[in-house]
Amino acid sequence: MPHTLLCSLGTSPAIVLEALIAGPSGRLRDRYARLRCITTSNIPDKVKWLRARLADREFADLDVEIIEVPDFGELSSQEDHERFMESLIGFYLTHGTGADGPVSGERMLPDVCISGGYKTMSSGLLQAAHFLGARRVFHVFAEQFREVYNRHPETITDIRKGFDEDLVKVIEMGAEPGRSGILLQLEALRAAPHKMNFIRRQLHQVDQLAGHAETLQELPFPVLARFDAELLESLRSPASAWLKSGLFEQLPKIELHCHMGGFATDGPLLHEVRAAATWPEELRALAAPDFPAAWPHPEKPIPLNDYRSLGDATGSKLLKDPGCLEKHIELLYVHFQKERVVYAEVRCSPNNYALPDKGRTALTVLQHMQQVFEDCMKKAQDDGSFFVQVNLIIIVTRKRDGDLSDISRHLALAVTAHQPFRQADSPRCRVVGVDLAGFEDVSTRPMYFETDFDIAHRTGVAVTAHAGENDEVESIWQAVFRLKSRRLGHALNLFDAPDLFRAVVDRRIGIEMCPFANYQIKGFNPMEGCPEYPMLKYLRAGALVTANTDNIGISRAGLTENLKFLCRLCPEISMLEILQLQANAIETAFLSLEERIQIRRRIGEQLLQWSERRGGGVITS
Ligand SMILES: [Zn+2]
Repeated sequence: MPHTLLCSLGTSPAIVLEALIAGPSGRLRDRYARLRCITTSNIPDKVKWLRARLADREFADLDVEIIEVPDFGELSSQEDHERFMESLIGFYLTHGTGADGPVSGERMLPDVCISGGYKTMSSGLLQAAHFLGARRVFHVFAEQFREVYNRHPETITDIRKGFDEDLVKVIEMGAEPGRSGILLQLEALRAAPHKMNFIRRQLHQVDQLAGHAETLQELPFPVLARFDAELLESLRSPASAWLKSGLFEQLPKIELHCHMGGFATDGPLLHEVRAAATWPEELRALAAPDFPAAWPHPEKPIPLNDYRSLGDATGSKLLKDPGCLEKHIELLYVHFQKERVVYAEVRCSPNNYALPDKGRTALTVLQHMQQVFEDCMKKAQDDGSFFVQVNLIIIVTRKRDGDLSDISRHLALAVTAHQPFRQADSPRCRVVGVDLAGFEDVSTRPMYFETDFDIAHRTGVAVTAHAGENDEVESIWQAVFRLKSRRLGHALNLFDAPDLFRAVVDRRIGIEMCPFANYQIKGFNPMEGCPEYPMLKYLRAGALVTANTDNIGISRAGLTENLKFLCRLCPEISMLEILQLQANAIETAFLSLEERIQIRRRIGEQLLQWSERRGGGVITS
């Protein structure tokens, strides 16, 4: 079996010969196939001496490579040693970890002799062997030969004699399997500009992970276990301490409850949307919404209908215009990018934007929206800007009277367009679910739409329902047991029915809460005389709660502001719990398991990058 000897060369080059002659078994019988030798740049005569000896017939089949570390002569500074280590690790990666063993793909670890060169070189070799693996590490020495013969064994004959007379000796230091935390990251190590820093950081994180093994289950993202204990502890304290840190802004987020029509509802965004009209002459005159005083922090809650009417300037009339619709979507996408929303499920009502006279049916409108979102995603992918995966939820507007065809049309549209688990080369904007929305009260409870939703259940289209925002807890019960909702929009009064709450927790039903909208419509502490916002209690009782925006324009708050606002609504909420909200959102997103794993991984990577940028005890390169 061909073996490689990796060693350092110092001022006594005969040591290399001793190690070579000792052979891979240490008993003079076998020969090495390869010699890889690293040395300083100030002893060319020693290198020459060694090369002359290696020209002997004895080493005719030996494949030799000697590397001199550039600008490393006398060891005189810390930088010298670090330069040596960078060269050594690079050299090791090329010669110590790549060669295939007898079984294809098997790594052939080198034998590492630590006897030559400065003590720092020996220690460096030992470290490298520890990180990257060695079949055996050994030391060879000939002090006794020198005592007996008054000279160093410098010829092949001398060395053989030394071994025969037991005056040249090998000390075995055992095998080094290498650290899996490094070996599994060899590609990244090869690419790292500072290899020792990479190794230290990697091992530090692996140690953190091992230290937190017990608490891994409790963490929203496993990657948090790689954080410094101190940093992790600070994430457990109230999130308000992080308000000015930039973490809320940088945090990768998930948005599950966002109405498309509630986005560019006034101000410059609305002007931009109107300016993009395909048929500007048909636009209604602009009527700016009349926001209550102190909005978005009103002194008292406003009725749901008043809240909804704040979005009238955008509404279905404006978004019927294809130019406006397109611009509206593009602006929403840019908004998500700024908010660092990794994944969003956007709710829309394509039939409300249909213009059959102009050849735009609910289906063509839906396909148009998907196309624009896909173009945005493709662009983000191409220009390397923040990538937001967007999928759609079709809104089924609840009503009891008049023309109910909308309900059937939207459900049928969702069923037709629903494309579960679709894989494609370029990003897709898919319809992933339906939402029972509209004005919720006792007359529009979910039970009235139970049979309408059969078509969704028959075809596996996920269902969410606005429930417990404007109606009593009975509405939530019906959403769960009549509509079989996988998620609930708002569900603010679940504690009115403890058994139902338990069922929601046990069935792992997602709760989409929207801090600003909930505050504005229902009123919660710190609004005077209002009850406590139930989110944190839901969360701590094990419910899969998420935080969302509802209507970004109407509520005048994106996801970052909504998360920050939680520090006022639930002053005790910790940063770890804010992260738990994101983990819950991934778990309850209408996605395949594979897609959820991908998103979790992406968020994990971003969190790790954040911790490294922050340098919170983690060694950075
Ligand atoms: Zn909503």
